[in-house]
Amino acid sequence: MSKQTHSFQAEVKQILHLVTHSLYSNKEIFLRELVSNASDACDKLRFEALDNAGLYEDAPQLEIRVLFDKEARTLTIRDNGIGMSAEEAASHLGTIARSGTREFMAKLEGEQRKDANLIGQFGVGFYSGFIVADRMTVETRRAGLPAEAGVRWSSEGTGEYELEPLTKAGRGTDVILHLREEEAEFLSTWKLKSIISKYSDHLSLPVLMRRETWDAEKSEQVLTEEWETVNKAAAIWARSKSDITDAEYQDFYKQISYDQEAPLAYTHNRVEGRSEYTQLLYIPKKAPYDLWNRDKRGGVKLYVKRVFIMDDAEALMPTYLRFVKGVIDSADLPLNVSRELLQESRDVKAIREGSTKRVLSMLEGLAHSDDAADKDKYLAFWREFGAVLKEGLGEDHANQERLAKLLRFASTHADEGVGLADYVGRMKEGQEAIYYITADTLAAAKSSPQLEVFRKKGIEVLLLSDRVDEWMLSHLYEFDGHSLQSVAKGSVDLGKLQDEEEKQKAEAAAEAFKPVLERLKTVLQARAKDVRVTSRLVDSPACLVVEDGAMSAHLARLLKQAGQ
Ligand code: ADP
Ligand code: MG
Repeated sequence: MSKQTHSFQAEVKQILHLVTHSLYSNKEIFLRELVSNASDACDKLRFEALDNAGLYEDAPQLEIRVLFDKEARTLTIRDNGIGMSAEEAASHLGTIARSGTREFMAKLEGEQRKDANLIGQFGVGFYSGFIVADRMTVETRRAGLPAEAGVRWSSEGTGEYELEPLTKAGRGTDVILHLREEEAEFLSTWKLKSIISKYSDHLSLPVLMRRETWDAEKSEQVLTEEWETVNKAAAIWARSKSDITDAEYQDFYKQISYDQEAPLAYTHNRVEGRSEYTQLLYIPKKAPYDLWNRDKRGGVKLYVKRVFIMDDAEALMPTYLRFVKGVIDSADLPLNVSRELLQESRDVKAIREGSTKRVLSMLEGLAHSDDAADKDKYLAFWREFGAVLKEGLGEDHANQERLAKLLRFASTHADEGVGLADYVGRMKEGQEAIYYITADTLAAAKSSPQLEVFRKKGIEVLLLSDRVDEWMLSHLYEFDGHSLQSVAKGSVDLGKLQDEEEKQKAEAAAEAFKPVLERLKTVLQARAKDVRVTSRLVDSPACLVVEDGAMSAHLARLLKQAGQ
């Protein structure tokens, strides 16, 4: 084979035109794309070598090197992965396998910022090199083929590319970018290192660069022949659980959360099956200052095959778990999916459901533990995040039952930490409903005259004073077969809790007071719907109640405050 000139497929030409003419913001992502291609090539080699260890030749250590030459103005991304044959180079770097070019174009037309980030979304990451280079040269040799079977692919990113034979001793690929004059900033160890650590810290492969040293004579940094690893080269979540110490988990948490305190709890799992992903999720000890902002994006970072994709991928966690921090690494999603695509993806839905279950299990582990220390941890969690978790009762119907078991309240029995199951366990003989009262504050709830009869009979009542409680109760009607009943609504039906004698007394009183009630009704006509004799009071002479099914007085007040 001698030097040949080939024409790009029409779609590639269009892409290249766009890439070189309209992508201005986020230029630096070209390095992520090329490093991730290098990493993919190493993954492919590792996979093929499972059946053919000879492919490793004499270099079993897979790695990526990034090197530059200031004088020549070149930047090279080198890997010793699978490499490409001449045919592969022509098809992989000359045509686009995936459809979607048109969507990509349409997307770019609409995009005001002309974000280079879009390019990886459509499986055309390689061409992002042309954002900063006016020529790209690829020198490659497929693993297993002889040194003479190498190939040099070269293009200026216009209509054509050239292919010529090459003798290449080491397997794998060198992607050489001939940088445009105005892109010289990428010829700097510091700049490259910072981009690599931003996007590739958790790649499991080492990325190596030449070490720099200070040359006093020239009075500048010069490159040495020595190589150093510039990424962390260890995705903690990709390692096996048994090899990771608690201290390492905590360090990683601090690194991603910027939280000085250790996390309250964490969970680390690899999920296989229809959707394949790894999750490492943390619950912080303290709520962030902006917890109440429901628009705030969550704290979960998305990686695809250990390549960083985006921070705060809100589609990965339901809103009511927005306090969870951590990493989800998917094996299925395309590299560089956009937020829009995340919202629609079925893989993401599976990830969100699986991760939600994990977080709930983690909380249940604490809440339902026999260990007093765990229970205390759960209460500490509840004080910080309980009100947010309550949002889940309305948001996440599939998990409503599990969430209901995690709720904690104050009651006439204890000032905090009362779970619905505890309550049910303490119910009086014959008691059917779970009773509650809502108020603005715990003190107001506690001193309500509505509670008198319940106190007298020793029936526990939940005291609810969180803003979200009313809303939550509009979604939670019952627990464990017991309906939730407000003590401030209608005629409290104490059912079997009221003995026959009391009932008769009440009926007799109602009869005796009939004339009084009639007069009161006429006087209060405009202000009260009904006036009744009640058995709910013990010490107080009278109290206001709300009709069954009507808005509670507390909710009415809240809505009024909110100007509705
Ligand atoms: P994607 O990575 O999404 O497939 P790219 O445009 O980034 O799209 O790369 C196109 C193809 O070129 C890859 O699928 C791969 O087959 C080939 N390729 C790119 N870089 C390398 C490399 N360093 N080693 C081997 N093959 C590569
Ligand atoms: Mg790629």
